[in-house]
Amino acid sequence: MARYRGSSCRLCRSEGIKLFLKGDRCYSDKCAFERRGYAPGEHGQMRRKKSDYGIQLREKQKLKRMFGLLEKQFQGYFEKGDRQKGVSGTNLLLLLEKRLDNMIYRIGFANSRNEARQLVRHSHFLVNGSKVNIPSYQVKVGDEIQVREKSRKIGSILEAMDTVARRGIPQWIEFDKNGFKGTLKALPSREELAMPVQEQLVVEFYSK
Ligand code: SF4
Repeated sequence: MARYRGSSCRLCRSEGIKLFLKGDRCYSDKCAFERRGYAPGEHGQMRRKKSDYGIQLREKQKLKRMFGLLEKQFQGYFEKGDRQKGVSGTNLLLLLEKRLDNMIYRIGFANSRNEARQLVRHSHFLVNGSKVNIPSYQVKVGDEIQVREKSRKIGSILEAMDTVARRGIPQWIEFDKNGFKGTLKALPSREELAMPVQEQLVVEFYSK
């Protein structure tokens, strides 16, 4: 399946929630969802009654799009989370949270997960001192993520580091701005993740 190449803002409007896919723009008054917070298209403003399946599908799509994943990758995370001990939905969220591209975004080295993915692919980061260029790499508690010396003048990284305060750095991450590094201190609880997703609906979607 091909990666979605259409308008990111259209995805937010379809899902009825801000997915924060366009970096700084998402926090400005240029945000399309702020200006037109209804579904795109001719019948976008009509209210439609959704079936249970439709509600579960939308929740799954919302989470998948938030992390910019393809269906196969996303389903793989669900299956892995389902095999682990604990609550399948929370396991799924944590597996997504621990992706290296997400961590780069959370620390504040990129303004969006999409931008983070590109930066990781271009080998701009070290994990515990070793170069890692795999966006899906699973970061572990205690891992230190650092911008490589040669990449510390990249405009988008510097800009993201300057503006991260606007969205805030999560408390489970330690950020050392001068050292261009961040550490995953601990795994967040479901409450701390504060993700506007009903993951139980995603579990129900795949459990049929
Ligand atoms: Fe979504 Fe607004 Fe960001 Fe566009 S600018 S991706 S509508 S949050």
